[in-house]
Amino acid sequence: MTVHKTTSGDDYPVERIFCVGRNYEAHVREMGKDPNREAPFFFTKWAETLVNAGPEDEAQIVYPSRTENYHHEIELVVAISKDGFKISVDDAQSYIWGYAVGLDMTRRDLQLAAREKGRPWDTGKNVVQSCPVGRLAPVSETGLLVNGEISLTVNDKMVQESDVDMLIWNVNEIISDLSHYYALRAGDIIFTGTPAGVGAILPGDVLKGNVKGLPPLEVTIGPKQ
Ligand code: MN
Repeated sequence: MTVHKTTSGDDYPVERIFCVGRNYEAHVREMGKDPNREAPFFFTKWAETLVNAGPEDEAQIVYPSRTENYHHEIELVVAISKDGFKISVDDAQSYIWGYAVGLDMTRRDLQLAAREKGRPWDTGKNVVQSCPVGRLAPVSETGLLVNGEISLTVNDKMVQESDVDMLIWNVNEIISDLSHYYALRAGDIIFTGTPAGVGAILPGDVLKGNVKGLPPLEVTIGPKQ
């Protein structure tokens, strides 16, 4: 279990991280796949990969071992408020505790090699300190978040820029579908997928992420492991 921080300074205990793959059309294309509306697919990361990464944290994450192509993926993160199994799309919004801005950092070389061979993505995705996340903001403060700019700069240069309303599967649909595989629990968090513009970063780079209406994310890439 890992404790994340909320906008009010409270602790938000996280036990499980779920991530959605290929959920913005332009990103699906840049990864060489067809963006037709197949059912969403999921992978998981350990809770310990979370890093508090509001600007006030001055967070630094390692550049991990065994990669020469470590990529950023800026994403809207959703936190789950209560337990639920086989949740309908109509009921899904009542399971949203709140939102944050997160990075699903990825050893792209290992992920793509695994993809080619039909092997699991774990070593590409479930990586030490690979989930820097800004402060979690409760839905009571933000309102339901169905649109708004999502963006990432690297060293103040814009590299990813889209809108949350471009999600192929929206937040309610993701919660519903995921909850048919796993009984969701309060404290689960879900990374909802990244827009186009993913790319490699290097030690010393400064990444700043934003979703309109949410507290920002800021993290520096530290030395190679
Ligand atoms: Mn991702």
